[in-house]
Amino acid sequence: MREIRAIGDPVLRTPAEPVEGFDRELRKLIDDMFRAMYAVNGVGLAGPQIGVSRRLFVYDISGRKGHLINPVLTVDDPDPILDEEGCLSVPDRQTGQPLYAPVARAAGVTVEGLDRLERPVRITARGSLARCFQHETDHLDGKLYVDVLPKNEARKILHKA
Ligand SMILES: [Zn+2]
Repeated sequence: MREIRAIGDPVLRTPAEPVEGFDRELRKLIDDMFRAMYAVNGVGLAGPQIGVSRRLFVYDISGRKGHLINPVLTVDDPDPILDEEGCLSVPDRQTGQPLYAPVARAAGVTVEGLDRLERPVRITARGSLARCFQHETDHLDGKLYVDVLPKNEARKILHKA
């Protein structure tokens, strides 16, 4: 089982490189990512979170499940929606459970990328799926959800992490 990296690990702050080889190794990596995510009841997991600095993520949220490789995100509806958000890589130091805070995210997005067989994928999302895509794409750029919080909110989270 791949270990999930926690805040403080430099890999989480490093912009990830594009995936290049669409081979068996990539397919195994995606399977490993799903396994690591499900083991901790996560709804999304990006490469850097298991120490793989590559542009891909997996998700399973609100009945929508999949993976995206080299995703590019476009905001369709910038109307900010505030909702609770947490991250497997930002756990409470004491309990090990993800820390949650209300995060403002765009209401609607489209992600375009590739699947494990290098076929083009395009998904338009709203609600929790749109939130998930923004959160996971941020991971690929070395960003964490605490970065988009108001400073005092971020400080509260970082104090416990
Ligand atoms: Zn996360």
